[in-house]
Amino acid sequence: MKGWTRRQFFLTSLASGLAAAAGRVLGAPEAQAFQGTGGVPQGKRPLMVASANGLRALDRGMAILQQGGDTLDAVLATVNLVEDDPNDTSVGYGGLPNEDGVVELDASVMHGPTRRAGAVASLREIKNPSRVARLVMERTDHVLLVGPGALRFAEAHGFERQNLLTERARTAWLAWKESMSDRDSWGPGLDSPEWRERTARLLPAGLSEPEREEWLAWIREVILHPPTGTINCLAVDSRGNLSGTTTTSGLAWKIAGRVGDSPLIGAGLYVDNDVGAAGSTGRGEECIKVNGAHTVVEMMRQGKTPTEACLEALHRVARNYGNDRTRLRRFHLLFYALNKDGVHGGASLWGATRGGRPRQYAIHDGTAARLVDCAALLEGAEA
Ligand code: ASP
Repeated sequence: MKGWTRRQFFLTSLASGLAAAAGRVLGAPEAQAFQGTGGVPQGKRPLMVASANGLRALDRGMAILQQGGDTLDAVLATVNLVEDDPNDTSVGYGGLPNEDGVVELDASVMHGPTRRAGAVASLREIKNPSRVARLVMERTDHVLLVGPGALRFAEAHGFERQNLLTERARTAWLAWKESMSDRDSWGPGLDSPEWRERTARLLPAGLSEPEREEWLAWIREVILHPPTGTINCLAVDSRGNLSGTTTTSGLAWKIAGRVGDSPLIGAGLYVDNDVGAAGSTGRGEECIKVNGAHTVVEMMRQGKTPTEACLEALHRVARNYGNDRTRLRRFHLLFYALNKDGVHGGASLWGATRGGRPRQYAIHDGTAARLVDCAALLEGAEA
């Protein structure tokens, strides 16, 4: 099967030990004012940070902070908008499914002032896993519920089950399924001259010609490069209290039950109210192996700026591959951070997307939401 082959290729190339020269390590300047000549970035409170897909939703969270609301309410109000959005195919409703065509969601929350955490993983049929994660934190003495237990817990709290697989995500999954093997009965595969025509027959009726083209191009893209995608959101209020959340549908076409970094406290999210908050998006497995968000917060505790701290965590990921750019190009990973003083930072393993766009993250400093460039550990783009 092609999926097996791709994974096998990845593992084989890991084992090959052909470590190329370490990539040039870059650290773009932090996109905020520096105080005096000491090189210490100046913070601003309240402040919110999110992955780039949170840009449009940050106004909602900032309004809560400006009215004196709690930081956890602010980050959840922000990500709930994205979870509800069927057009974001990496989070909540509309997320791309696992290999069985089932959407499985992961999420975590941390509340700085009370130093508590909650999370859910492999949750099906509930479109706001971050809200369920909050209830795990508030209504149980556990931290993480998974699978059917998480679903029963959500239902017990009045959440309604719904089919999270949108028409667009289902069509992409079917096309992916058909592209996987020439030995089963699921279609002829991407290399077939018939692929385009057969895939076009899966599309819903009533699409205009440009819409059909857009669907086909997107389906081809998500088959060739199974996307990851997530929203992480962090907030500090005017008093220096912090919270964070990370929510995702995880890696497209994953094995059922695969859990990424997002619901793992210390990996996809970490908050320490004395220091700061950090989160991650991208290849969850790599974040888990360096305990990413916790590492970022610990680096800030030791005096690094948020950007420096994010770069240090990425540096450990690169080290896990002997700094071999060829192997590192197979994935992307980003860290976002915010310290107690309201200084923000973000860093990406690669400076640009495959399409050549700069990797960015979103901030809201009370005046407006905007995107800022991430610092990059490695120059160039992922493959
Ligand atoms: N980190 C998420 C995961 O691995 C996916 C992503 O952020 O793109 O599940």
